[in-house]
Amino acid sequence: MEAKSIAIDGPSGAGKSTLAKTAARELGLLHVDTGALYRAIGLYASRRGVASKDETRVTELLADINITLRFDGAGAQRVLLNGEDVSDAIRTPEVSIYAADAAAMPAVRAFLLETQRSLARDNDVVMDGRDIGTVVLPNAGLKIFLTVLPEVRADRRLLELQEKGVATTYDDVRRDMEYRDMKDSNRELAPLRAAADAVHIDTSELNVEQAFDVLKSLVRERFHGDRP
Ligand code: C5P
Repeated sequence: MEAKSIAIDGPSGAGKSTLAKTAARELGLLHVDTGALYRAIGLYASRRGVASKDETRVTELLADINITLRFDGAGAQRVLLNGEDVSDAIRTPEVSIYAADAAAMPAVRAFLLETQRSLARDNDVVMDGRDIGTVVLPNAGLKIFLTVLPEVRADRRLLELQEKGVATTYDDVRRDMEYRDMKDSNRELAPLRAAADAVHIDTSELNVEQAFDVLKSLVRERFHGDRP
């Protein structure tokens, strides 16, 4: 039987990763944060001094890159780039931009596709990203597309970064999000889109528990046959 999978897509700051973490913990699923894979490639390109938009060079670099995800006892994801744990180093604003530029390159997306799919074949997962419901796991048992008002999004993202110890400002966060949204929504390949069968949830006025309650009732309905 196929493993159970939940896809959560949406723009940055919509609360995907917080919701996915809660769902993983409460429902006993593996949380796969796919943005970390794009970030690891972005980090590598920035360390090698390659311009973020230099598609030829970034594509060439892929031959030197080996990315693996490891999950600790508590199910927290660690990202290894050529054996080095870069889970913290990938969280900077500079790497965000590198990741979004790299994510528009077909060779980069192809490079990461099988890693993501094989995790979902071998495990029950809740996977968050931009194209999980549309491209990576088109047969996911439940697809969720999160939306949120722009001002709420920037506030949340700022808080998230501050909690991680990243020094940044509200204006920088907002500029970074607008740039990435524009890139992620307008790229030709696997743009940020809701799958036709995704359930849309606006999280602007929901806290994590409330968003998780909505998800939980969808899980009961989809995976356990309960009536809505
Ligand atoms: O989710 P996170 O903000 O860490 O993602 C970093 C970048 O990686 C996004 O801005 C997006 O360009 C890219 N990404 C993607 N597809 C995914 C996950 C992330 O294109 N499934």
